[in-house]
Amino acid sequence: MHEFHLDPTFRMAQQQLDDVAQLMNLDSGIHERLRYPRRSIIVSVPIRQDNGRTKVYTGYRVQHDQTLGPTKGGIRFHHDVSLGEVSALAMWMTWKCALLNLPYGGAKGGVCCFPEEMSDHELERVARRYTTEILSSIGPEKDIPAPDMYTNERTMAWIMDTYSNFVGYAVPGVVTGKPVQVGGTEGRVEATGRGVAYTVLRALERLHPKLESPTVVVQGFGNVGSVSAKYLHQGGCRIQAISDVQGAIYNEQGINIQSLMTHVKQTGSIVGFPDSEKIDASDMLELPVDILVPAAVANVITEDNADRIQAKIIAEGANGPLTPKADKILIDKGVFIIPGILANAGGVVVSYFEWVQDIQRLFWKEDEIVSKLNSLMANAFDEVYQLHVEKGVDPRSAAMMLGVGRVAKAKELRGLYP
Ligand code: GLU
Repeated sequence: MHEFHLDPTFRMAQQQLDDVAQLMNLDSGIHERLRYPRRSIIVSVPIRQDNGRTKVYTGYRVQHDQTLGPTKGGIRFHHDVSLGEVSALAMWMTWKCALLNLPYGGAKGGVCCFPEEMSDHELERVARRYTTEILSSIGPEKDIPAPDMYTNERTMAWIMDTYSNFVGYAVPGVVTGKPVQVGGTEGRVEATGRGVAYTVLRALERLHPKLESPTVVVQGFGNVGSVSAKYLHQGGCRIQAISDVQGAIYNEQGINIQSLMTHVKQTGSIVGFPDSEKIDASDMLELPVDILVPAAVANVITEDNADRIQAKIIAEGANGPLTPKADKILIDKGVFIIPGILANAGGVVVSYFEWVQDIQRLFWKEDEIVSKLNSLMANAFDEVYQLHVEKGVDPRSAAMMLGVGRVAKAKELRGLYP
């Protein structure tokens, strides 16, 4: 029995696969193979702290499936990182990549630590030592990391540099989400949030075309939450409430996102933003709005609060914010849930563009990237929506059926080795 079997997040990902396998009559051999990650790596990451002491963190990299190509997925620095969580996230990356027709399987990695309490130097040492420990398992043809929670462009530059120093030449294609100056792409920083907003606006067009200035709550104001809010605001929505780790703010008339971003740059938090009142962060999720975007951490909407959610549309900016029990309650209430494997796929889509540009040594302009991103998101959304309508399944099951179905078909064609 693997350790990850005991983890609730992994069990949740496996349960989702089991349910969809039944729904689509998936071949039992292929189903069994997809229930486990192909490879799981656990490493010790010792670093010298600024105070002179030595500390050892635990790092993970899980590669779920390599049927369609190299594995792809982010690396997070967070105190909740565990083998089970990373394994679940790797599996979701497999379905996400397949749903968007990207030639990748899914992976995820992370280091269990408290990044908020660490200095930049300590974070750099963690990133470099972690990269060194997983070095033989990553590479542009094998497995390509990217940013995730509490990692960013700078972290990716350190990973690229560490890997390149080991092999002896610059390898920009080993990670995505790098700064543009070292082989990154235009449009990657905003890609996930843009995609979230795009899928929400497309869902509104289909479901509530006459709704004027739809109201929104956004949970989380990191990269995904802030950019989603920005583009939803630009798309005509009224963002009534936002939260971050320090608290939540509310303005019935709508929050000006550009000014809020400036406020966050100056003060480090959304709290204290003029032109807004403070509200309770958990009450915020239950406000009577049209759209709810959970863009913070996993498991925030559970059987305990699902019944009190009033939104008509939920777009999962984060990975796994709804538990399966919450999912069921909300579906029964008629809520349209845009699953994370669709809603937040914009990030890995533009990561794919970055990898292609790195390999070709030919770079594209931002408008080209945005229009290609929109077209992939539109296709995926429309396929999911059509299946949802035709088969009468909820949108998460429809998205999973498409993603799992593509991987399963490829597995069937390739056969089981040896
Ligand atoms: N970490 C992001 C995700 O969960 C992006 C992964 C990538 O760009 O490879 O989708």
